[in-house]
Amino acid sequence: MNVRRRHISGIAVAAAATLGLTTLTACSSDSAAVGNTDKFDVVASFYPMQFLAEQIGGEHAHVTTLTEPGQEPHDLELSARQTARLGESDAVLYLKTLQPAVDEAIDQSGVKTKIDAATLTTLEDHGGVEHDHGGEEHAEEDEHALDPHVWLDPVKYAEIAEGVGAAFAKADPDHAADYEKNTATLVGKLDALDTAFEDGLKDSATKVFFTNHAAFGYLAERYGLTQEAISGVDPESEPSPARIRELQEEAKADGVTTVFYETLVSDKTAKTLAKDAGLKTDVLDPLEGITDRSRGDDYLQVMEGNLKALETALGSK
Ligand code: ZN
Repeated sequence: MNVRRRHISGIAVAAAATLGLTTLTACSSDSAAVGNTDKFDVVASFYPMQFLAEQIGGEHAHVTTLTEPGQEPHDLELSARQTARLGESDAVLYLKTLQPAVDEAIDQSGVKTKIDAATLTTLEDHGGVEHDHGGEEHAEEDEHALDPHVWLDPVKYAEIAEGVGAAFAKADPDHAADYEKNTATLVGKLDALDTAFEDGLKDSATKVFFTNHAAFGYLAERYGLTQEAISGVDPESEPSPARIRELQEEAKADGVTTVFYETLVSDKTAKTLAKDAGLKTDVLDPLEGITDRSRGDDYLQVMEGNLKALETALGSK
């Protein structure tokens, strides 16, 4: 949007005037690629932030995402080009602590509107949630960190949506009415999703599910379920034979039928455990990215897929 002006030399402005152009967009032929357009340019850190920005920004926003589809978000390192793109955007939407490299780049960038989703709801400590995939150096310090996977609770995600809508309206007041309308529409869909989860999971044979990525703490808490993470910090690692025995016993005691794995990392651990313990496997998608393998094209569709998978695994009535 207005950021472009400071990059344009007097000569370029004169040339544009000569050509009778009334806007400056003609000078920025590569603007779509670098996120510096005549729209409200929003850089989203990873998919759940992208979805909010697109839904709320609608036709007024030009949204780019730092995490490529299929890329594991937690350990993302930014390229020089991505860092530059950040500096040229009107707003950045991110979730502090999920991606330390992104936090640092945002801190150092001159972006006017920095929207930290973590401040728009309440994060909780789910007790040693291993959200740092394979990053051994972070394992200890993360032990008592707040769980960042807050978007998997539709109620908390709706709270974030409300905050994002207000922030967009403030940063781009010309389109405030549309941002407010779009926010209300999205919140309505998230409310309906919450009701579907509530109804679908209230009466089930078991309340316990196994997953190889402890991303579902908020979801479990919202709907009265218990998430049991099957391995340690590194999802590629093998659980120990003692851990497998422990989980086998728990599966038996709690009527657990299924070991869930996710789409962005190896399913080896989950499949090994399931085979050894005589359990089924299925996908529970933490929605950290949308790929061809996702069960749906957006947050709402994939969450509906997650609900179906949980209903089946938990024996919903
Ligand atoms: Zn995660």
